[in-house]
Amino acid sequence: MQRTPLIYIVGTGRSGSTLLDLMLSAHPDITGVGEFANFTDWVKQDDPCTCGQPVTACALWGPILSAVPDAATHDAHFGVGLRRQVSRTIRCILASPLTQQERETAKVNHELLGGVATATGSAYVVDSSKDLGRACLLYLSGRFDMRFIHLVRDARGVVFSRSKTKPREEFVRERPDFATRAERWPDRKRARPAGFTYRRWMAFNTAILTVGVTRWRRRYRLVRYERLAAEPERVMAELRDWLGLDVQVATADTAVDAHNIGGNRMRFKPVTGVRVDDEWRRSLGRGPRVLYALYGVPLVAALCNMVARRHPAPPTHGS
Ligand SMILES: [Zn+2]
Repeated sequence: MQRTPLIYIVGTGRSGSTLLDLMLSAHPDITGVGEFANFTDWVKQDDPCTCGQPVTACALWGPILSAVPDAATHDAHFGVGLRRQVSRTIRCILASPLTQQERETAKVNHELLGGVATATGSAYVVDSSKDLGRACLLYLSGRFDMRFIHLVRDARGVVFSRSKTKPREEFVRERPDFATRAERWPDRKRARPAGFTYRRWMAFNTAILTVGVTRWRRRYRLVRYERLAAEPERVMAELRDWLGLDVQVATADTAVDAHNIGGNRMRFKPVTGVRVDDEWRRSLGRGPRVLYALYGVPLVAALCNMVARRHPAPPTHGS
């Protein structure tokens, strides 16, 4: 079995993962596939790929789907839920084996993502699913040669971004072309209090840090969203070094022949003029600012900053 080289973007929502996915995909040796965890949903609904074609008619996905008949019956998603996330994280630290069903799901993912690497001749495929449990299971399956990019955005920016989510009805009024898909977002705009988002941010980022440092080691890098958006060229150059890719092209403005699925709508527009979205600094209310300190978020943020300054050498074979 040939291990598929996979860059996995892991982190909490609203951290800029779609932006990072698109920036990585601007490199000719990297192909981004978006939030691949939702691939099966996309196929069932025959949603449009970023190339404009329905997934089943897309020049990339069409032939891959024909070659992997299991993709029609076996969901590429490992399933969600907080308890699963916790148990998968612990199992990853302990290097526990997968269950039979998990092995089968990993196999379908491997056939599909491996198909992308072969069809495009890419050195890496990018999965920006973000989900930590999925990252752990793909890693434990042994089917992927993985690099983990842990993307962390200032928790106050995440809280502010969440507070701006439009209710589904309003969103669909503006984008009627998304009406069918929006039906699959029952949770959209369940307004979450800032405290909920801070707790989640801390729990997940701490868990990812722990797995990253103890288990993934040189395969793991922490990137701050704020730095990525402020110094995109520099951060991308560092990532290319770590990935062992030639330093060439891949500016944020490069047009990409993308076949992403999932992720936010940004993927349908070209990435131009990356800039830091820090509106929260001016517009975040006093309540969320006080809670930020009360919950002790700055402690985890300091830890993230410390790890972000580590620039691990590329992993050697098998490390
Ligand atoms: Zn496509």
